[in-house]
Amino acid sequence: MDEFGLIRQYFAAAPCAQATAGVALGIGDDCALLQLAAGEQLAISTDTLVAGVHFPDPCDAYLLGQRCLAVAASDLAAMGATPLGFTLALSLPAASPDWLQGFAAGLNKMAQDCALALIGGDTTRGPLSVTVTVFGRLPVGQALLRSGAQVGDLLCVGGSLGDAAGALPLVLGQRQVAAELAAPLLARYWSPQPQLALGQALRGKATAALDISDGLLADCGHIAKASAVALQIELERLPLSPALLALLDKPAAQHCALSGGDDYRLAFTLPAQHLPALQAAGWSLVRIGQVVAGRGVQLLDAQGETVQPRACGYQHFGNLSD
Ligand code: ADP
Ligand code: MG
Repeated sequence: MDEFGLIRQYFAAAPCAQATAGVALGIGDDCALLQLAAGEQLAISTDTLVAGVHFPDPCDAYLLGQRCLAVAASDLAAMGATPLGFTLALSLPAASPDWLQGFAAGLNKMAQDCALALIGGDTTRGPLSVTVTVFGRLPVGQALLRSGAQVGDLLCVGGSLGDAAGALPLVLGQRQVAAELAAPLLARYWSPQPQLALGQALRGKATAALDISDGLLADCGHIAKASAVALQIELERLPLSPALLALLDKPAAQHCALSGGDDYRLAFTLPAQHLPALQAAGWSLVRIGQVVAGRGVQLLDAQGETVQPRACGYQHFGNLSD
């Protein structure tokens, strides 16, 4: 099959690539065209997943298709953006129909779950890597930035933390456990659910937000730095799932929650007056700490004493990028 046949069969023909609101022109021309309403801004983010670096090789193509889009869509959630579409740049060592079918099916499932239309891409031969660029829309000035946290705000997250980090030894085949223990954690690793609706509900309420991709401590450090405040995290408030606590003892689970990547939950700062209404509306928000004057991230034990975290989040180039 040639490149164009491949694009047509597996991507242009996918349900997620069909005509939809906001996409004036999809796959097939030199560019796609997106339609924004007056008073809207475009939110854009790109993520690359490389075989052997961001996912094990070989891995299940369907799960990879789901995961590469979820990871990218999570950045739209973190800005409070409404999903519009995405492009897919795929580098493949070979055009295996089985692999492409599985990958396209997983991608399509996540695309439909996230209401993201596939609007274009690029297909080349090379080592396996997947780059997804997502596009969303926002009313002008309403994006949730990292820089607005205020002293006195609550620090909250959108659900349990550490599941993906708990799953990692299972994903890498370093540890084997019973299927019923592994399944819920593997699901959180391979098909994280971008918190798109929560992000939109936080517009005009949260003062700062991001999605946790590198670990809670590291990512809260980004809000602290951008906002010129300190974030306090209370260890006993960390939400740990029953599935994680079935696999690990509490200190190990807390370590996953603090330092493990790949959770893709939202972390955000919120003036306290907004919490009751959001909770009453059914959002599963967990308050894990607060914003105080100062710099950096502080971890507090049950007595309110400062404790030292064991390690920070994942960085591809160590401290070089600081
Ligand atoms: P060009 O050479 O003009 O860059 P291509 O031949 O690479 O165009 O792609 C043809 C069309 O197919 C374009 O609309 C492009 O966006 C789309 N496309 C290419 N690869 C993919 C892919 N993996 N998924 C979705 N659309 C793709
Ligand atoms: Mg091209």
